[in-house]
This record gives sequence, C-alpha cells and structure tokens, in this order.
Amino acid sequence: MQLCALDLNERLTFAREARKHQDYFCLECHRSVRLRKGLHRQPHYYHTSPNRECRQDGKGMAHLVTQYFIRDLLPDGEAHLEHRFQSINRVADVAWLPQKLIFEIQYSPITAKEVESRNKDYASLGYQVVWILFDGRYNQKRISSAEDVLKDSPYYFTNMTDGGEGIIYDQLAIVESGKRVDSLPKLEIDISCPEYIKEKLPKLLWRQIKIGALYFKGDCIYNYLQYTQSINQTDFHITFSRLIASQNHSKPTSLSQTIYSYFQSWIVVPYHAVLRLLVERASQ
Ligand SMILES: [Zn+2]
Repeated sequence: MQLCALDLNERLTFAREARKHQDYFCLECHRSVRLRKGLHRQPHYYHTSPNRECRQDGKGMAHLVTQYFIRDLLPDGEAHLEHRFQSINRVADVAWLPQKLIFEIQYSPITAKEVESRNKDYASLGYQVVWILFDGRYNQKRISSAEDVLKDSPYYFTNMTDGGEGIIYDQLAIVESGKRVDSLPKLEIDISCPEYIKEKLPKLLWRQIKIGALYFKGDCIYNYLQYTQSINQTDFHITFSRLIASQNHSKPTSLSQTIYSYFQSWIVVPYHAVLRLLVERASQ
C-alpha cells in the first residue's frame, strides 16, 4: 500500500484526494493501483494485482504511519512523502528537501546489496539516506546483513505500531561474532535536529564516526559529545578509572578484557552518566 500514485494524466495524486473505482498508477512499477479507504483507515492505494518486486506494494500500515510520523516532526512544508526522483527511478518514503535527507523506513527484509545501491543512488544526487529499521525485524540478537552494511551510516530503529504508537530511537549494542550480546537502553531521537561531526572521534563500538558524519539530537553520538564537553578531562579520567575498578569484579566472562574496558570507558560510563543527569534534571 502507498500514499501517492499517478493519475491517467501522470499527475501526482495523494490517496486522500483520489477517487474510488478509478485507475491510478504506481510511482515505482507503473502498474495499476486503486484507492482503498474506510472509517478507521488511512486512505491508501493498493496494487490491483500483487507485485512482489515493487517496494510500494510491500508496505504495511505501520510503514505508512511511520512516514506520517516523520513528516509531522519536520518543519511544515519541508518534508515530502513518497517523493519521486525520476532520474534514479526511486521513490523516497520521506524526503526532507532543504536538508537533503531521505528517510527510508524498512519493515520488510532487505539485502545488503539493495541498501548499498539505494544509498549510492541518492548520494549521486547529493542526498544522504537515514534508515529507520523496524525493531520487530531488526535490532534482534543476530545482526542482519543490512545492519552490518549500515554500520557506518546513520540508522535508527522504530517500534511504531499500526495505531501510531511508538518512537524512533538509537540503541548501542555490544556485538560479538555478529550477535548482540548486550544492549544499552533505548535513546529517543529528535529527527528534526540533524547535526554533523566536526572533529575526529573514537569508534563508538563497531560504528566508525567520521568527520562530517550525520547524527541527531538525542542519539548515542549526541549523548557522548554532550558528556565529554560538559566535564573537564581530568575528572573524566578519574571517574572512568574508578568506575572500571568498581565494576571489574562483575565483568562478564564472555567479553575480553580489552573490549570490556573499552566498552566501559567510552560508552557505558558517559552514557549512564548522561542518563542520570537527565533523570536528575527532570526530577528537580
Ligand atoms: Zn508498484
């Protein structure tokens, strides 16, 4: 199901403006689609004959709800749903044109190859893709090949339901042999506040953070930067060594000492310290 289609005159028509029992055409595969709507249903198009090859056909209700959710968080009039990029024959779930950002929402399985080719196609037009992966399928114990190929790109998770309840969040995990062995708490992100890395940073677990890399207010990188900038470096190291020392007796045996102390010093400590600060601030 989808929100946009072309009418007989190739004009872009939103489902809420479309008429029932009339032929429209899919933006992606150009096959015939029709309008479906009801009292408790978001109006949408459906393919009159199913097309497994077409990404638009594979979208479920939660996918559509997430598209609206993202658009509504962004400044009025700047974000467009199912924006068509004719030169690369792609239809973006949400395109934030002034920021040159594309939000691709992924509920169904996707290959690493398709992820890379979509990133590459949009990059050829100067757009950066931000992936929003549904956590009923992704963020599971095993890292999917799509997540693996995305590790150096901006990607987040969502737990959005058909009814529109849910958030978009970041969540760091410690990974061993392609499996998440431990995850930190979810961090809700503010997708209306994109920022770019200005200075070189150490690797955030398995994510490489390059200068110029995109991040959003509230995500792991943001929290990490907030913490390191808010305290002086001496305090920072004293806190680290104390915390590492105090936690050494309870360290998980499956993790090597190096990974564990790296994890403790760069991730767990600042992350939890920031969370504690937030809780303290909220309760004042
Ligand atoms: Zn189609």
